[in-house]
Amino acid sequence: MNWRLFAAGSCRHLEAVAVKGGAWRQAVFPALFAAVKTSRGWLLVDTGYAPRVLEACRSGWWRLYPLMLPVKVGPEETAVRRMQSILEKGEEIAGVFLTHFHADHEAGLKDFPRVPVWAGREAWAASRDLRGFASLKAAHLPGLLPEDLPERLRLLDCSDAKAPGWVPEGWSAGSDVLGDGTLWAVPLPGHAPGQLGLMFPDVDGGVVFMVADAMWRIDWLEEGHGPRWPVRFVTHDWRALHETIARLRALRRDRPDVRMIPFHCMKTARELQVEGCG
Ligand SMILES: [Zn+2]
Repeated sequence: MNWRLFAAGSCRHLEAVAVKGGAWRQAVFPALFAAVKTSRGWLLVDTGYAPRVLEACRSGWWRLYPLMLPVKVGPEETAVRRMQSILEKGEEIAGVFLTHFHADHEAGLKDFPRVPVWAGREAWAASRDLRGFASLKAAHLPGLLPEDLPERLRLLDCSDAKAPGWVPEGWSAGSDVLGDGTLWAVPLPGHAPGQLGLMFPDVDGGVVFMVADAMWRIDWLEEGHGPRWPVRFVTHDWRALHETIARLRALRRDRPDVRMIPFHCMKTARELQVEGCG
């Protein structure tokens, strides 16, 4: 399937805080999202940041968010603007697949009214009622969600669906997102409650695996370069995160044809020549 990777804004923090072996200097962490060309049109995988995050951070507990994570996003960098630049005549946005309910993934949802939004049932159950300090702690900003989202949500259970033949061994517990065997959602526990990843066949015969925040950067896969301990404070389940990273390491060893895309990785963004990540 045809696919593209984009950046919708970024944030900065000390590299050494995020990754073992990282430098003690500020590093840019882009808020990446993807678009996959399905039989229904372009499906977005997350939406990155949008300027409405900055507005929402002017009141209440969320004033603390930019102090921890300085966000940079302009109106021309949003998912909807990025998509406008590639949509050809007659092409449509088929919907959004949301890997998890974090501000840097959900901020663009309001720019895509009416389309269906696929998300994990567990992720939604854990996020839907969060308000105030609890929402900040969980990095989910309720004001970013469209009011009619509950009617548009297509909740996914990754249980007993039959995996298509191209799905790598060991990843058959998942959900057939469109019901046609082209998009396979899998649980990636640890980073956020109910986080999902999305797999699909690549144009060159391999498999693309959008792992989103299961690892922030591709170098977490290197031996000795996992997340450093401060990441624990923004991680839902630290042990599950390490188990997930171990599974991803094994997958890379066994299946080098599976291309993993973390959503805050500048190296990946540069390799794929993502606009704004030069
Ligand atoms: Zn996240």
